[in-house]
Amino acid sequence: METVFTVDGHCDTMLRVMNDPDFDFFAKNSSGHLDLPRLKEGGVNLQIMALFVEKRFKPFQALPRTLEMAGAFHRLLDQCREDVTLIEKTQDLEEIARDSKRKGFLMALEGAEALCSSDVLYSFFKLGLRLITLTWNQRNQLADGVGESCTGGGLTHLGRELVQEMNNLGIGVDVSHLSEKSFWDVAEVSRKPLIASHSNAYNICDHQRNLKDDQISAIVESQGIIGINFCSFFLNKTRQTSIEDILLHIDYLGKGWGFDCIGLGTDFDGIGYPPTNLQDISRLPGLFKKLKECYGEEVASKIMGENWRRVLHAVLPSS
Ligand SMILES: [Zn+2]
Repeated sequence: METVFTVDGHCDTMLRVMNDPDFDFFAKNSSGHLDLPRLKEGGVNLQIMALFVEKRFKPFQALPRTLEMAGAFHRLLDQCREDVTLIEKTQDLEEIARDSKRKGFLMALEGAEALCSSDVLYSFFKLGLRLITLTWNQRNQLADGVGESCTGGGLTHLGRELVQEMNNLGIGVDVSHLSEKSFWDVAEVSRKPLIASHSNAYNICDHQRNLKDDQISAIVESQGIIGINFCSFFLNKTRQTSIEDILLHIDYLGKGWGFDCIGLGTDFDGIGYPPTNLQDISRLPGLFKKLKECYGEEVASKIMGENWRRVLHAVLPSS
């Protein structure tokens, strides 16, 4: 099998680790989308693992729940240290790029309800947190999510402060799930490449979770990245899609803005209906093959992981 540096910018597998007593991350499972054997099969070099805080814990239990999930993430890592590096700085990226047998896991947070001050943010930075999706669809103390769009709210004062602090520390700012007003506030405040870890193009599929053309332009201007989401609802608003629907979004972004802004953000284990021929993370080599046929090896490699690598180099601390 031909190898390519492969990055998936978003999965919710930690949710399974927390909630499904029958799930074994280290065995190949017949259900769900992602585990260590299937990451190996799929040739994934770097997996960004989101800590998704469920609605029932918000707002008052969000901090203990997020800490609990961070603990479970580290427990998982401790069990696979011989295979996996925690990605905290640019040198860690280099390490996994040099050694194709090693994988990297990067800790992300989806929904920042736990982050009530810059000192709390710093605590999570010390625990290894390196990417933050500021909101899920709801409003929180930092910003409004896309589900609050009708109220027109954007980044709060604390949201602005923490985005700047994230820039300083070396934590990526993820704009997926934000309301449009929040998005534009982040674009104004943040000095680092914007990351939409798991969103698609609104002009191809007019779902509220997808990005309008002017948002795409802002991400491209910041030299950021858009991780293509494999959720069928965000690809064509139905439950039935195939790899071709992913290609429609990639083609639209690539031909409109160039291929440097495109990565993968599968949303595996957070979605119900992945494309029929991309049912789990082990199937990514099929996507690489298809991308090579369409755009050639260099562009295909950028989409599979080189663009994520470039953006993370610009965002993460160097030491
Ligand atoms: Zn999400």
